[in-house]
Amino acid sequence: PCEVYFPRKGTMEWHPHSMSCDVCGTSSHGIKRKKQAPSPQVGKKFRIIADHARKIQYARSQKQVNSKSIMKKVTNCKKIHLSTKMLTVDYPVDFVKSISCQICEHILADPVETTCKHLFCRLCILKCLKAIGSYCPSCRYPCFPTDLVNPVRSFLSILNTLVVRCPVKDCQEEVTLGKYSHHLSNHKEKKEKGTYMHVNKGGRPRQHLLSLT
Ligand SMILES: [Zn+2]
Ligand SMILES: [Zn+2]
Ligand SMILES: [Zn+2]
Ligand SMILES: [Zn+2]
Ligand SMILES: [Zn+2]
Repeated sequence: PCEVYFPRKGTMEWHPHSMSCDVCGTSSHGIKRKKQAPSPQVGKKFRIIADHARKIQYARSQKQVNSKSIMKKVTNCKKIHLSTKMLTVDYPVDFVKSISCQICEHILADPVETTCKHLFCRLCILKCLKAIGSYCPSCRYPCFPTDLVNPVRSFLSILNTLVVRCPVKDCQEEVTLGKYSHHLSNHKEKKEKGTYMHVNKGGRPRQHLLSLT
């Protein structure tokens, strides 16, 4: 069954390229092949190869998605980091990638650089090194917590000039990343004062919706 041949006439039966291949071994794949209408041999051969490559690629991408979601569980930073969707400008995807953490995919928060010159949030890479081992999650180059350095200042200043929209309800102000934490602390102050005043009046403190604290 391992021999591959392409008869000029009649439907060709599809066989796995090797008996141990998980990708070829799926039944749906086999049935699909048998039902396919006859067509020139070159096209057929090409389709089998292309199909096979696509399946492998898909399996690989699924593996990547899985490890990404595992890493996101490890970092658990959804509530403390900012989504790239908060950026007020619709930047090219490649630029957004360069200013976001390759572990959590948020906008880089307190970024650090590895020896292999990859960028991560400090929290993310430290948690990740602990969880998966001492190598870079992007390229697998050996990496230890002591190897991490601050990125060059010019990169950090670009990061700090990016503008995000404040997610606080009734605010929605456009703030640069450099001033964001100060802006958010203003909200916290107001919230605390507000709560205090409400308590003094004897009423129940009003619940403020502050998603990012
Ligand atoms: Zn195969
Ligand atoms: Zn994050
Ligand atoms: Zn991160
Ligand atoms: Zn790396
Ligand atoms: Zn605000």
